[in-house]
Amino acid sequence: MPPVINKEKCVGCGTCAQICPVDVIKFNKSLGMPEIRYPEECWHCNSCVLDCRQGAIRLRIPLPAQLLYVDVKSVRGE
Ligand code: SF4
Ligand code: SF4
Repeated sequence: MPPVINKEKCVGCGTCAQICPVDVIKFNKSLGMPEIRYPEECWHCNSCVLDCRQGAIRLRIPLPAQLLYVDVKSVRGE
């Protein structure tokens, strides 16, 4: 499943678009918001979720990829 961006929480910082290694997320300058451009390319690395300080990105990780999953709250010490 590709990431889902909560537009209510997103502040349009653009970090997720910068961090995505495969250009799944592109920043739409005219909207001032990121958008999911190539959802089928997502490899579920979880980087966008980890780097979004607003907690605005939700990602459902497929079972095989869960072996590599890092819980964002444990990384931040929350
Ligand atoms: S990192 Fe989070 S707050 Fe920043 S643009 Fe992406 S979804 Fe929005
Ligand atoms: S999980 Fe990784 S590949 Fe997928 S959108 Fe986020 S940063 Fe890009």
